[in-house]
Amino acid sequence: EQKRNGRNGISIYDAQLQSEYIRKLRLKDRLIKAITEKKIQVYYQPIVDIETGKICKFEALTRWFDEEEGYISPVIFIEMAETYGLIGQLGRVVFEQACRDLAYMHNQGYDDICMSINRSVREFALYDQKYIYDIIDEHGLAYNKIMIEITESAALDEGNNILELLSEFAQKGICVAIDDFGTGYSSMSAIIANKPNVIKIDRNFIVDIEQSVESQILVSLVMDMSRKLHLDVVAEGVETKAQLQLLSKMGCHYIQGFYFSPAVNIDAAMVLLKQSNVCAITPC
Ligand code: C2E
Ligand code: MG
Ligand code: MG
Ligand code: MG
Repeated sequence: EQKRNGRNGISIYDAQLQSEYIRKLRLKDRLIKAITEKKIQVYYQPIVDIETGKICKFEALTRWFDEEEGYISPVIFIEMAETYGLIGQLGRVVFEQACRDLAYMHNQGYDDICMSINRSVREFALYDQKYIYDIIDEHGLAYNKIMIEITESAALDEGNNILELLSEFAQKGICVAIDDFGTGYSSMSAIIANKPNVIKIDRNFIVDIEQSVESQILVSLVMDMSRKLHLDVVAEGVETKAQLQLLSKMGCHYIQGFYFSPAVNIDAAMVLLKQSNVCAITPC
């Protein structure tokens, strides 16, 4: 039976493979174009101080609205960019835009706001990061208003120059956050050696924090560690008031998530800032 259907089966399969291959090639071409023409956008998600209800930071999250396929998740196009050797260029475009928009916020009177920017391991390993300082200087920003987010696994990767770079950042006053904490397999000593300023607890542990004893244990361990190491803790992916209240009770001071706002464009971010300045931010 296999044999009888074989030929047709294979040719249909081939056709599908081929069209998928062509789709990906075209997508790659459009990604290159979007990066070189700086059509990649940057959106901003507020990080809120629970105690004051005010926005203290934004996380810069890159966005690509492809002309043919529409919204493409950064998880997908960042991996593409890494595969095709475009991540250095993409990271630079995002960094420039985020610094420009942060300078704009400061010029509009919100001069305490910090900007948190993601970096992938590949970027650290393969591309010279010195341009970061030039861009920060160019916009007249203080180094301590910039935070670099690296994932837990990146922080552990000893085969690259990360430790060296992180201590250079620390000397300059640039903040470092360990992103997606709890999803990697870090040893305490590795985290401590990296001397981060901030730990961001992954959304996985927040989404079920009310039900899961394991998640509660992880969060309270992170809180204990942070007090001893004088780190700030951000809970990612907070979506409900109940989560917020529980986290607040556990001593977590900074919250990021859809409960307050998803990442929005710079105009909408300015509106959030205005609201947040007048009264405690109204959750959406
Ligand atoms: P991340 O750095 O952990 O960013 C947080 C992700 O969680 C964002 O997804 C954000 O939209 C999402 N999120 C925030 N609050 C909530 C919530 O309450 N509920 C849910 N369901 N999701 C929430 P996004 O924007 O799709 O980004 C995914 C990942 O892509 C990021 O995870 C980061 O690792 C990477 N990424 C995004 N922008 C950049 C960039 O400019 N450079 C690099 N290297 N990576 C980036
Ligand atoms: Mg992040
Ligand atoms: Mg994260
Ligand atoms: Mg993540």
